[in-house]
Amino acid sequence: MSNMNKTMIVANWKMHLNAHEASLLVHRLDDRIKIHRDVEVVLAPSMLSLQPLSLQIDRRKFRLAAQTANEHDQGAFTGEVSFTMLHDLVHYVIIGHSERRIYFHETFEVVRDKVAAAVRNKITPILCVGETHVERKNGETKQVLHDQLVTALSNLTTEEVENVVIAYEPVWAISTFGGELAKPSQISEAVDLIRSQIRELYGERVAASVRVLYGGSVDDHTISGYLEVPGINGALVGAASLNYHKFSAIIDAAYRLHHKVKEG
Ligand code: PEP
Repeated sequence: MSNMNKTMIVANWKMHLNAHEASLLVHRLDDRIKIHRDVEVVLAPSMLSLQPLSLQIDRRKFRLAAQTANEHDQGAFTGEVSFTMLHDLVHYVIIGHSERRIYFHETFEVVRDKVAAAVRNKITPILCVGETHVERKNGETKQVLHDQLVTALSNLTTEEVENVVIAYEPVWAISTFGGELAKPSQISEAVDLIRSQIRELYGERVAASVRVLYGGSVDDHTISGYLEVPGINGALVGAASLNYHKFSAIIDAAYRLHHKVKEG
């Protein structure tokens, strides 16, 4: 089954849970989540938990993602971890999350270099893009998405872009930045913009096959509505992914919806 035909649900645990707590949460999720061929569940714990969790997880159920890494493969960069070091541990890496752009001043160019470094090290980027509240109010959403995408992907080949996962995360909808619930029509419009920009740059085939996730206050109550937005292939979940009741309910909903769509 191609990746495009699966629903992808990513848990971004941010700077929560020590290694013991992360392990406990995986145990609880493991009890509740069945093996789903059609739903890809990706866990993004802190850097410290990646190694122990890579030994603990049932790989038929879970894949791992890093939340960031350094764009250089090695060198005198005290405190940093490179994609080269993560190569055997993770399938994915979240790049350009708004918290990294805002709190750690990651520029469009740094995001571009991280995307290239991930791909160079055979790790699939989950590239986050999205406008702030002010940018939306000023009618700049299209331009912001365009600039973020064009720069971030500019060092990749067409084949490499096809494999990238794009997460549309309007900053104003992320729980820690306001948590306003996005309307399906707003998401659908943004996804259309993203796919048409990809189409212009890389052609129809890439635009149709690139995976696009939605992120912003997704929980067990809102997930179904968001997954039903045309062009959405899954969700990036922050706060709700730390709660095993909520996160396993999100996976169940994704599974049910996937089958409803396939059968209907
Ligand atoms: C996120 O930070 O990527 C996110 C989507 O967070 P939340 O679900 O808490 O809004």
